[in-house]
Amino acid sequence: MTSVVSEVAWRELLERDDYQCLNCNSTTGLQPAHYRARSKLGSDSVDNLLLMCGECHRAHHDHKLIIKRIKGHFFFKDKRKW
Ligand SMILES: [Zn+2]
Repeated sequence: MTSVVSEVAWRELLERDDYQCLNCNSTTGLQPAHYRARSKLGSDSVDNLLLMCGECHRAHHDHKLIIKRIKGHFFFKDKRKW
């Protein structure tokens, strides 16, 4: 998968989110996830992005991991069964 955000935005995102997946705290396979999907005109700026590992990112796209943003903080509802 190719990177969808600029190098600058990516570094800013890593710094802000402490180099770990916001949902599971994994530090490997990190990817930029869009809070508001690009297809819904979400922007590529850092305030529309969150740091996620590949697995959580995929779950999000499968609608198994719901993300809500409240006052600038992201909250997750994980519907996956383990
Ligand atoms: Zn994760």
